[in-house]
Amino acid sequence: MSHDLIADSVLAFLRERDPKAAEILAAESDRQATTLELIASENHASPAVMHAMGTCFTNKYAEGYPGARYYGGCAHHDQIEDLARERAKELFGCQFANVQPHSGAQANASAFLAMLKPGDTFCSLNLADGGHLSHGLKVNMSGKWFNPVFYPLHYDEGHDEFEQIDYDAVEEVCREHKPKLLMCGYSAYPRVIDFARFREIADNCGALLMADIAHIAGLVAAGVHPSPFPHCDIVTTTTHKTLRGPRGGLVMTNDPELAKKIDRAVFPGMQGGPLMHVVFAKAIAFGEALSPEFRTYQQQVVKNAQALAKALTARAYRITSRGTDNHLMLVDLRTRDADLTGADAELWLERSGIITNKNGVPQDPRPPKVTSGLRLGTPALTTRGLTEGDMETVADLIDRALASKGDEGVCAQVRNDVAQMCGRFPLP
Ligand SMILES: *Cc1c(COP(=O)(O)O)cnc(C)c1O
Repeated sequence: MSHDLIADSVLAFLRERDPKAAEILAAESDRQATTLELIASENHASPAVMHAMGTCFTNKYAEGYPGARYYGGCAHHDQIEDLARERAKELFGCQFANVQPHSGAQANASAFLAMLKPGDTFCSLNLADGGHLSHGLKVNMSGKWFNPVFYPLHYDEGHDEFEQIDYDAVEEVCREHKPKLLMCGYSAYPRVIDFARFREIADNCGALLMADIAHIAGLVAAGVHPSPFPHCDIVTTTTHKTLRGPRGGLVMTNDPELAKKIDRAVFPGMQGGPLMHVVFAKAIAFGEALSPEFRTYQQQVVKNAQALAKALTARAYRITSRGTDNHLMLVDLRTRDADLTGADAELWLERSGIITNKNGVPQDPRPPKVTSGLRLGTPALTTRGLTEGDMETVADLIDRALASKGDEGVCAQVRNDVAQMCGRFPLP
């Protein structure tokens, strides 16, 4: 399986010692190489980033922070964490960065712990309209221990900003509920976020402002989406989506007082020992993101998303909010086929080697396990080297699979064409 050097090198150690696990790795490596990855929150990390996670940095406890650890032997861990922090600050243009959160959800929980007390009110987007579960879902800590209130999108088709954030409504919700924290940044929102406007609204109601840029971090780092700095008090993100690093989280601020609270919230508030092999990989990923090639990559991600949205529109699919400014789009399947659900589409596409996720569209009448939409993103395809012209082909493959209603024969043909296309665009 010479398409994946990293899997190959791990397999060389594993085949004899643990054939069962080896077989699963070989199958997954093959799956990634031969399918088209359109999940907007996924990407293919570079070989350097992937290798970094498999190093001896995983062996060490490094509770605490550089220069103030609770364990001996941390000299190199201090160096690598300092390097990761410096690069994160340079990348996002801010004063403080905590690179230890194990994930985006941990980063958000740490930010809440730094800014809020149990029972405090915060304000975020209606979760069904593209918010993340860590922004106030009832069964999530954020919804159980705090008091979320939600703002809507424009639902009026006649409005210029149909299915985009209704900033006047955000203002109204904030005036009524006086939240201690206002949140922006989403999991399924295809448009530019106006951070300056959010700052104004936060100031008018005396709220702190937090941006969770988990999805758009790579675009922000490359200057392809406006920066949340200097407008936001706290910025959280994942490092594994558009940013193309290892799975993990990151919290940033310009406020020295908040920075101290964030550090205490991450450790010992939320976490024990940091995943230093992941911090090592974060440093490398941030270094990659500082390169001119990364900027070109992010520009291509957006061009590809716009080309794919256009190609799907031409095939009678409705793109919510009438298009996209970033790396993702929400596809309303009902205009193509009133009976088509997100759940069926996801299944039929996977049968055809195209990996997506079902997603509710704004005001979706179907339940979350069914939905009327798909969320599609171009970060992973762009990493493989696909460009605008290829998006026509991708839209065609998608439409063939869906028009067949999951027919085994048609899907097998599409699967074949997908594998051929993947052969022309090898993984990094
Ligand atoms: C993906 C995502 C997260 C959570 O990241 P995990 O690493 O899965 O915990 C948080 N916020 C937003 C907006 C996201 O899209």
